[in-house]
Amino acid sequence: MIPLAKYPQPAAVALLRQATALAPNRNKASDGLLPSAAHVKQNPNSDHNSGFAVDLTHDPKNGMDCRVIYEELKKDKRVKYLIFNAKIWSRSRGENTYTGPNRHSTHLHVSIKEDCGKDTSDWFPWRGGPKRWNRIKSKFIKVNRKKKDPTSPKED
Ligand SMILES: [Zn+2]
Repeated sequence: MIPLAKYPQPAAVALLRQATALAPNRNKASDGLLPSAAHVKQNPNSDHNSGFAVDLTHDPKNGMDCRVIYEELKKDKRVKYLIFNAKIWSRSRGENTYTGPNRHSTHLHVSIKEDCGKDTSDWFPWRGGPKRWNRIKSKFIKVNRKKKDPTSPKED
């Protein structure tokens, strides 16, 4: 069994937050980070145990079409594997039929690589980036300011 983490990885949390910033009315019924006790029993070696997995609810009507997201996330270097609608994709094995007990028709499962847990960069770059998210993030990025132009008006 993969030991249970206390907290999900920041990259996993970021995916759900960015999704909500992009589609505030999206359904979250099948969202998931850490596993329930029942989930642990059923799937003791899930990446949810370690906090390196996230489930995103499929809600095309409200802006979260997991069919599209599944295809686009194949390009994201943080992704270890994806499961959606009875298909599993991994960088090493490509796409295969998913034969697990849950077909994953209501949510997309994303497993994140061990060395990418702290990478909270944009998960939805093809959508032009969530504006609100970028604004929040920009507060933490150090900006090299130009030296004040001596002729510019004085600021208080
Ligand atoms: Zn999952």
